[in-house]
Amino acid sequence: MIEVNDPIDLSSLVMAKISGQCQCGAVRFAVTGKPVTAFVCHCTECQRQSGSAFGMAAWLEQAELHLERGQLKEWIRQTSSGKQMACQFCADCGSRLFHQVLGSSILSVKPGSLDEPSQFSPVAHIWVASKQDWVEIPPHCVQFEGNPESMGALMQAWQAVH
Ligand SMILES: [Zn+2]
Ligand SMILES: [Zn+2]
Repeated sequence: MIEVNDPIDLSSLVMAKISGQCQCGAVRFAVTGKPVTAFVCHCTECQRQSGSAFGMAAWLEQAELHLERGQLKEWIRQTSSGKQMACQFCADCGSRLFHQVLGSSILSVKPGSLDEPSQFSPVAHIWVASKQDWVEIPPHCVQFEGNPESMGALMQAWQAVH
């Protein structure tokens, strides 16, 4: 969220415009913002949420979400670090689309919902301690047993290849 009084030099930001939709198509959206990282999370919350082995996240700084059609529902959960995270999903089919820690300027988008998901190849894997045994992590990805000490580490890994 950009506050009117914030002296932000927009020329220094590479803003991306990405679009996507839920599984049933009732929700279509476009998001603008600066991609700052993309990673895979092997925590048990992500395993349950996705009904799969891991969750994926693409983080956008100063993101603006434009809902083109459909309706989002929201559920708020406590994170392991004691923060509150808003989880948004299609009101019709339940596809999870966005996560945002309350008060954060970063919007987390689920890359699988995007029209062009390939632009968010993960650079890191976190919560590797609870990873399913059969998942093999590509050697170019940075690994963390749980959350990195600072989430900045995930952004550094992104900057190293972008
Ligand atoms: Zn839907
Ligand atoms: Zn997770």
